[in-house]
Amino acid sequence: MTTEPTEECGVFGVWGDPAAAQLCAIGLGALQHRGEHGAGIVSFDEGKARSHRGLGRVEAALPSAAVHGLDGAAAIGHVRYAREANAELNNVQPFVVNDRDGALAIAHNGQLLNGARLRQGLEAKGSLFSTNSDTEVILHLLATSGQSTFTNRLIDALYKVEGAHCLLLLTADKMVVVRDPMGFRPLMIGRRGPAWVVASESCALEQVGADQLREVLPGEVILVDRGGARSLRPWPEAPRRGCTFEHLRLARADSVVFGQGVYGLRRRFGERLAQEQPADADLVLPVPESGELAALGFAAQSGAPLELGLRRLAEIAPVRAGARGRSTAPNPGFSVVRSLVLGRRVALVDASLVRGETCRRLVELLREAGAAAVHVRVAAPPVVGPCFYGVDTPPPDALWVNRGSIEGARHFLGADSLAFLSLEGLHAVEGAAAPTLCDACFSLRYPILPQVEPERVQLPLFGSAPGT
Ligand code: SF4
Repeated sequence: MTTEPTEECGVFGVWGDPAAAQLCAIGLGALQHRGEHGAGIVSFDEGKARSHRGLGRVEAALPSAAVHGLDGAAAIGHVRYAREANAELNNVQPFVVNDRDGALAIAHNGQLLNGARLRQGLEAKGSLFSTNSDTEVILHLLATSGQSTFTNRLIDALYKVEGAHCLLLLTADKMVVVRDPMGFRPLMIGRRGPAWVVASESCALEQVGADQLREVLPGEVILVDRGGARSLRPWPEAPRRGCTFEHLRLARADSVVFGQGVYGLRRRFGERLAQEQPADADLVLPVPESGELAALGFAAQSGAPLELGLRRLAEIAPVRAGARGRSTAPNPGFSVVRSLVLGRRVALVDASLVRGETCRRLVELLREAGAAAVHVRVAAPPVVGPCFYGVDTPPPDALWVNRGSIEGARHFLGADSLAFLSLEGLHAVEGAAAPTLCDACFSLRYPILPQVEPERVQLPLFGSAPGT
């Protein structure tokens, strides 16, 4: 189980290339960091949908023999992050259904704010659901729309949903690309020769040799068919709210997200952190992978050398709780270069801190290796609220703000000091783009207030329904 906010899904689509499914597999590999629990591809060949879905990382879920069997010049794909309860094959996308206009495949990145309420209404009218995914809600809304054309039914369905949605839909004669009006999650469109290519991040376009054209705009619907691509803007303009966490931690470092290069931003978050919260340190160590670019900026600004003194080991099983009740947390599997840290003061830098179990373990390892002091520096403000727009954040009782003060967090980590980038510092680094970005998990300024969703009631099998 992850201890930090985790992306929930990535999408990739190709229209107009005979190797569409193979390109999808490559693109999904580049989006692997957005979800490792399942992957799928659907292609259309001579009007028929061909699908392969599997659990696990892309190479396991989509073996090349299966991908080569997905003929056709159009395909869409999906990588999935699953909350524990949903790690089942039937929740892996793209979903394929038989719509009144023929077969239809759909892939979704995001989260609906009113999904449970819509589902309950649909079920009351007789809709039967086979997954617990928000995406199926969209399909049922599409199926029950009174509009006549496919495009109008889709727009009618999406008018009813609230929240974050980047969607790819594929039929025998078109690919439809949709981004929600506030643009919470990223989505890019490009060209690869005559083919159209769409991806959650620009790194995936580059991976298949596609030229980036532009972002799919918030509130835009792009219809791609034999006649080319057409852009529709069916929703009134809404304030943009791209997810700041994409910049801080979620997107791949070589991507351009919401018009800004992620690599440079992460470095500058670290520089700003060193200005705001300097540490009395002899060297700077990144938390492996997640803290590397912020540590680079922190070291450059502070003058202390950056060292790669912590290494991630191959994944190992979680340590079982012992007699003293410790180590129910995941064992992060790190090693320390002892000669680097012995007797020295360390600034340990990460991109964000929510639960802190991994950080706590690293502080412990550094102390065991003889570090004279460990100062934890975090290149993001403290997370004070959950995300409702497609990022899996820990429950409120796991957030620092609900577990005590920053001093309580420092004590939990066992660090000599703990300090975060300020919200003002985050905005200063984001510059003119800051007002167009969501920072709700740091500020509690939610762009769309979540609805109070009705409790889902599970009737016992073979039992009596309430009131009977
Ligand atoms: S609440 Fe946080 S994680 Fe969610 S979209 Fe906003 S910035 Fe991103």
